[in-house]
Amino acid sequence: MRLVLLGPPGAGKGTQAQRLVAALNVPHLSSGQLLREAVAAGTTIGREAKPIMERGELVPDALIGEMVADRIKLKEAEGGFVLDGYPRTLAQAVMLDGALGERGMKLDAVLHIDVEEAALLKRILQRAAEAESRGEAVRTDDDPVVFEKRMARYRAETAPLIAYYRKARKLKTVDGGQPIDRVTEELLAAIGIGESARSKAPGK
Ligand code: AMP
Repeated sequence: MRLVLLGPPGAGKGTQAQRLVAALNVPHLSSGQLLREAVAAGTTIGREAKPIMERGELVPDALIGEMVADRIKLKEAEGGFVLDGYPRTLAQAVMLDGALGERGMKLDAVLHIDVEEAALLKRILQRAAEAESRGEAVRTDDDPVVFEKRMARYRAETAPLIAYYRKARKLKTVDGGQPIDRVTEELLAAIGIGESARSKAPGK
């Protein structure tokens, strides 16, 4: 199954993606994670992306589009994938449709995790505090000022994808303000996955 997870920063896309890939046995493709790995490895792309990410802005469509298209072409993604954080602009959505179309493929569904804005900053700060208490590095963009910029980019560039995918009849919206397990259940139900697959999700 080829799925996209759509939602604002802090909606729980990463957490839910991990649960979906465990239930569906497909790879998790996180554009943010691919970029953070490139930054950590100090590649050319990583050096270009680092300051942009630190400012809470979006990296250029072509740069991230190619990175994701390369992953989609891999054998491990033949049976499907869960894309998390990509596409984030209409241009990226069109590129994705093109990259899939070249292979005779299309998306099965776009799962929109809807969370009211007031709850999001709280979640981001909680994520930073939890990482710190585990002795892990805190993401430099999990900070209130940068968060506001990421939200602005979401409203301006990513939110229009909701209408784009609704028109394409791919959009499934789930209330992401509910407990994590409940959100996972509703996401799986939205793509017609039954109890047996659901029981494989971690934490169940
Ligand atoms: P995330 O982990 O999805 O919150 O992404 C972290 C940061 O990586 C974002 O704030 C952007 O700077 C960059 N990024 C991730 N995915 C994309 C994308 N699809 N398009 C542009 N920039 C992205």
